[in-house]
Amino acid sequence: MAAIHQPTTANLRRLARVLAEGGLVAVPTETVYGLAANALEPRACRAIFRAKQRPLSDPLIVHVPSVAAAARLAFLNAEARQLMRAFWPGPLTIVLRKRPLVPAVATAGGPTVAIRCPAHPVMRRLLRLCRLPLAAPSANPFGFISPTTAEHVEAGLGRRIPHIIDGGACHVGVESTIVDLSDPGAPQVLRVGGITAAQIARVLGRPVPVRNQAVVAAGPLRAPGLLTRHYSPRTPLRLHNRISAALLRRAAADEGLILFAAPDPGLPKTAARVTILSRRGSAKEAARRLFAALHKLDRAGLRQLHAELAPETGAGIAVNDRLRRAAAKRRGHE
Ligand code: AMP
Ligand code: MG
Repeated sequence: MAAIHQPTTANLRRLARVLAEGGLVAVPTETVYGLAANALEPRACRAIFRAKQRPLSDPLIVHVPSVAAAARLAFLNAEARQLMRAFWPGPLTIVLRKRPLVPAVATAGGPTVAIRCPAHPVMRRLLRLCRLPLAAPSANPFGFISPTTAEHVEAGLGRRIPHIIDGGACHVGVESTIVDLSDPGAPQVLRVGGITAAQIARVLGRPVPVRNQAVVAAGPLRAPGLLTRHYSPRTPLRLHNRISAALLRRAAADEGLILFAAPDPGLPKTAARVTILSRRGSAKEAARRLFAALHKLDRAGLRQLHAELAPETGAGIAVNDRLRRAAAKRRGHE
């Protein structure tokens, strides 16, 4: 059992000291909960990998309180500054060439570092108190569903970590968008998230291709297929463009359904466990509630889950990306 702390000033001061001494603390951010450690201390970073059982080939995102703090870790370019002005603090991670003080373990040995400036007020206070960049991947065992509440963190990692800060339910609910600007002439989105590729393209004034992790996973750093399956419940999950009235009627007592929006004919009384992500069909609301729905249905001891895809636009792009990875077949050594 981890200790779950309320974000009082006294608690944050104490936990900032824990971080400065090389310890691990699970922290709230606006995207998902993160498992934080001093990004400049290789031993502290290695403890993150151990707790999550994450392969060392999967680099960490480093969280900073400001653009100035980012500039101490990486070489900023004009494009990066434009995106920071537009989207920081917020759910955008930027990959840049690293400076030597960033340890190799945080970047999987590579020449680039992923940096984000989070908007969550509790995380911001903690960053200011500890005056350190914090490496913080999602606070879940590697490959499983990301946590959007302190209680999800406790359920997944409670036996492996000492401290969790309870900052309430995450407002965005899916991980940050990652944009690679290490070659400013060829920006690309590596992961879709809280901010769309179209929003980034508008700020940069040029098209920005999406080359997401399934493709990155085939690169030299990673075993193929390792990252294709991700965000995964233990219960088998099947995806549908629309969950039909027939499936709603047919779903047995041991099946769970995740609907994107309220169904037309209303819910039949016989339906098994049904979660509606957004009654009014808002993709942002669906993103906020997606992982909690997966956590809840995964714990219900069901035989089969079904989920309905969102319209492929705006926040719906990230929702569908996470659903597709959650439903991907187990492959290789995961
Ligand atoms: P997580 O914090 O668990 O959401 O995962 C962080 C993700 O950021 C990794 O899985 C990588 O895909 C990505 N990432 C981190 N650092 C880099 C980097 N230097 N270059 C490309 N992608 C990165
Ligand atoms: Mg993760």
